[in-house]
Amino acid sequence: MSKMGQRELKHIHWLTMALSLPEEGVAGYFPDEQSRIERLREVRWPQGPTCGRCRGTSITWIETRSRFQCRSCRHQFSVTSDTALHRTRLPLGMWFQAVESLIQYYVSSSLQYHISGHALAQELGVQYVAARRIRKVVVADIDRGGRNFLGAAVCIRASSLPPRIAAYSYDHLRWLVELQLSGSQRDS
Ligand SMILES: [Zn+2]
Repeated sequence: MSKMGQRELKHIHWLTMALSLPEEGVAGYFPDEQSRIERLREVRWPQGPTCGRCRGTSITWIETRSRFQCRSCRHQFSVTSDTALHRTRLPLGMWFQAVESLIQYYVSSSLQYHISGHALAQELGVQYVAARRIRKVVVADIDRGGRNFLGAAVCIRASSLPPRIAAYSYDHLRWLVELQLSGSQRDS
């Protein structure tokens, strides 16, 4: 079996994400900020929130501020503190939508082009400069080798590779491409 190149591995990464997006769309699956905070919380801290300052695990949720507080050291933090979205002032819904748009666009162009700053700006209802910055942050996070905080949050469907197919092989890539094609035929 010939060795997979970087390009093929990247294809597998992005196609897997595309196929794991919610079928009803990100906005339908995560209808409000609370559902998005909840999702980021479980992706970031599957065992429950941990204080970034003292590693304490006794944490209180402050509803009015949408922040956590550590019972040991009183440190306050949000679900996005010290992540790709550190200190973001944009609603999480906008980030989630950007992830979906970027994945769908990039995959539909066979990993040739990212969505343009203008198209993303229009879609999100933000300025061009803001859209470029959002794109940069999201791509760095969800690209192969990134921390994939946002990707893991938004890509909710686990695709189970049939046991006969070796992971990260050409067969794996072919399987993903076929699934992608049958999906886009169904959609149109
Ligand atoms: Zn603490």
